[in-house]
Amino acid sequence: MSQYTGVAVSPGRVVGTVRTMAPPVAEPPVGEKIPEGADPQAEAARIAEAAASVQQALTHRAEHAPGDGKAVLEATAQMAADPSLTQTAQGFVLAGGASAARAVWEAGDQVASMLEGLGGYMAERAADVKDVRGRIVAELRGEQAPGIPDVEEPFVLTATDLAPADTATLDPALVMALVTSDGGPQSHTAILARQLGLPAIVAAKGVLDIADGTEVFVDAGFGTITDDVTDEHRRFAEAWTELQKNPLTYEGGGIELTDGTRMQLLANIGGAKDAKAAAAAHADGVGLFRTEFLFLDREDEPTVEEQTTAYLEAFASFPGKKVVVRTIDAGADKPLPFLTDTDEPNPALGVRAYRTSWEKRSVLTNQLDAISAAAKQSDAKVWVMAPMISTTEDTEDFVGLCRERDLAPAGIMVETPSAAVTADRQLAACDFASIGTNDLTQYTMAADRMLGTLAHLNNPWQPAVLTLVKATCDGARAAGGDPEAFGESAAKPVGVCGEAAGDPGLAVVLVGLGVNSLSMTPRSLPAVAKVLSTVSLEQAQQLAAAAVAARTADDARDAVRAGLPILGELGL
Ligand code: PEP
Ligand code: MG
Repeated sequence: MSQYTGVAVSPGRVVGTVRTMAPPVAEPPVGEKIPEGADPQAEAARIAEAAASVQQALTHRAEHAPGDGKAVLEATAQMAADPSLTQTAQGFVLAGGASAARAVWEAGDQVASMLEGLGGYMAERAADVKDVRGRIVAELRGEQAPGIPDVEEPFVLTATDLAPADTATLDPALVMALVTSDGGPQSHTAILARQLGLPAIVAAKGVLDIADGTEVFVDAGFGTITDDVTDEHRRFAEAWTELQKNPLTYEGGGIELTDGTRMQLLANIGGAKDAKAAAAAHADGVGLFRTEFLFLDREDEPTVEEQTTAYLEAFASFPGKKVVVRTIDAGADKPLPFLTDTDEPNPALGVRAYRTSWEKRSVLTNQLDAISAAAKQSDAKVWVMAPMISTTEDTEDFVGLCRERDLAPAGIMVETPSAAVTADRQLAACDFASIGTNDLTQYTMAADRMLGTLAHLNNPWQPAVLTLVKATCDGARAAGGDPEAFGESAAKPVGVCGEAAGDPGLAVVLVGLGVNSLSMTPRSLPAVAKVLSTVSLEQAQQLAAAAVAARTADDARDAVRAGLPILGELGL
C-alpha cells in the first residue's frame, strides 16, 4: 500500500484510475540522421503521415472539448495541417539526410522564429507551432502525446504541474481529480481547479511514482491519495458523485447561521465577464474586484476613460449591491510594465501594490478618479480598498485620497502581519478591512506563495495565520463601527477575500473569529453556504478557538473537521 500526502486545494473524493500527464517531448539529438540504407523519400513521407494523424487526434478532441479549450485545440489542429512546417521538415530530410524527428524539430524552430519576427498575433502562434512540433515528434517515435492523456474513460490526472495551455484543454467531464507533485495552493492550477469545481491536491511529493492504470482513492478534503482502496472509500466517493448529480445551490440574499446570525457571501472577480458569472451564481455582491487583471497585458497605463468604462461594465451586474474595488495590485507574480520594477531582488517584498503610488502617484490617483466617476454613474454600492498596506500612515494616505474624491467606504486589505497586529489603529483610520489570506499566509509564514516546495507552510490553516485573522477582528471591534452605516455590528466590517474564504471548514473558523463577509470564487458559494447554515455562531466560535489553539495546521484542520461531520457527509 502506498499513501501520498499533499495540500488539498479543491475538495471532493473520488475513486479512479491514474493517468499521468506525459512529460514534454525530449529534443532529438542534434545531427540525428536517417538510419543507414533507409529511403529518404519514405522517411519524408512519414512526416506528412504523422502530421495528419496529429491533426486528426486534435480535431477529434476539439469536437468534445468544453469552452475555451475547443478553440485552443482547433487552432492547434490547424497548425498541424499547415504545410509550412511539414514541407520545411521534409526538405531537411531530403536535402540533409536528417532523421524525420530531428527535421521536424528544426523546422519547428525555424517556423516559430519566423512568426516571432512578425510580432503581434503571429508571435503568439509560435508557442502553438512548438506544441504541434512536439506532438508530431512523439507520433513519429510512437510515444504518448505530450499534455493531458487522450483517453475516453474518466481518470485521475497526475502531473508535475499544469501549463496554462494544458488547463485550457482540461475536460472536467473526463478528469475526475487532479493531483500534482509541484505547485502551491495559490498556483494557477489550484485556482483553475477551484473554478472548475475539480477535486485537486497539489505538492503531493512522489505521486508521479504511481503507475498508469492504478486505481486510487483521492481525498481532496484531506489531501491524501492511496492505492489501497477500501469499501469505505467507495462510499465516500459515491457521496461526492451524488453531490455532483444533485449539486448544492446558493439562492443568494445572504445566509443565516442556526442562531439567526446573518452573513454576506460575495464573489471574487477580475472583470465584467466574471461579474456576470458571479451574479448568475447569486453572489450577494463582489468582495474583491481584482482590477489589475484588466491591465496585465498592457504596456502603458490605461486612460481614466477606459478604466471608467471597464469598471462600469463590471458594476452593471450588481445594481444596488456592494462591489469592493481593489486598486491595482501589481508586482511580484503580477508585473505591470508601466508600474513595477522587474529587477528587484525580492519582488514579493518590494515596491508592489499600494506601495507603487509612492513613486508613481498619478497611476493610483487616476484609478481613483475612474472608480469615482464610475461609482457616480452606477447603481452599485462601490467600496474601495488598497492592497498590501503595512503601516497606519499607508492607510491614512490612501483614505485621504479616497475622501478627496467622495469615495466611501474606503478600506484596506490586511495582507501583512504588521497590518493585522495594528488592526485597531488601522481600522480607526479607515472604514473596513478585507483580509487577503493568500498574502497574509505568505508573509506570516515567510513562504513564497508560488513555491510548491513550501506548500505545507503556505497553508491558511496554520495557527499563526488564524491568530492574525483573530487579531484583525479583535482590532476591528476595538475600533468600533458606525451601526448606521454598517448595520447592527459594533465592529467595523472585516471580510475575507483570500482563497481561505471558499474552503467550507475554514469559512466556519473565519466566521467564528468575527469575520462578517466572505468572498470567493462563485463555484464555492453553495458548499460554503450549506456548511455555514448548519452551525451556530457559538459553535463556530468554539471551532475557531480550537483551530487557533492547535499545535499544527493539520491538527487545526482535523479538529474542525471532527466538529463538522457535514463535510464528510457531503463528500467535501
Ligand atoms: C490575497 O492575497 O489573499 C488576495 C485576495 O489577493 P491576491 O490573491 O490577488 O494577491
Ligand atoms: Mg494579495
